[in-house]
Amino acid sequence: MTTLDHLALRQAVIDGANFLVRTGAISMSHHGNFSVRIPGTDHMLLTATSSFDSLKPDSLAVLDLDGHLVSGTINPSNAEIVHMHAVVYKHRPEVGAVVHTHSTYATSFAIASRGIGCAYEALVRNDMADGVPLAHYGPRGSSLAIANIAAALASMPSTKAVLLENHGVLAFGADPAAAARANLIVEETAQMTILAEVLGGAKPIPPELLKASLERRDEFAQAGSQRA
Ligand SMILES: [Zn+2]
Repeated sequence: MTTLDHLALRQAVIDGANFLVRTGAISMSHHGNFSVRIPGTDHMLLTATSSFDSLKPDSLAVLDLDGHLVSGTINPSNAEIVHMHAVVYKHRPEVGAVVHTHSTYATSFAIASRGIGCAYEALVRNDMADGVPLAHYGPRGSSLAIANIAAALASMPSTKAVLLENHGVLAFGADPAAAARANLIVEETAQMTILAEVLGGAKPIPPELLKASLERRDEFAQAGSQRA
């Protein structure tokens, strides 16, 4: 296998990473790592460096979900986090891409040891009506950290993101664009929730209205585009 197989997937990851940098859903250092599942295999492509700056198609390595390097190169700090991505693919067969950042506001919740509740409608619309759970701390990529991520995924089967206590955020979706969008929505929600604190605190959406919001979204989506 050459290092540039799956060029379209590599480009989709780069586009997702650039989207997060462009929208500001990233920490000041632009630290992050991004992976995509190679369809029909138990392999993933993972960014080999720890920054979203200057990513190129050959900046991704191929690994299997047990963490073995198949092709390409990976730097030591990213070798540490391989299992953080793999655990999501193992527990969520529908997930095609995973992104990890230290996006500022979401990570503020993580270091305060708090999950995020559902007070912002965009979270509902993006399939996180139950909010974003917190995975308890373990050293980066350790078996303790991975077990805690698995427990958080199990605790909230619908979520598209997990906050990593004292660390950052892990977001995922069907493809790199969806994973990046999940990270952005969580970041946006975290920012607004923190700002709402000075106004008396965010007010959760009542459960019956959460359901109604999803039904309305699906009804309009099913009807398709309207043209006059
Ligand atoms: Zn990190």
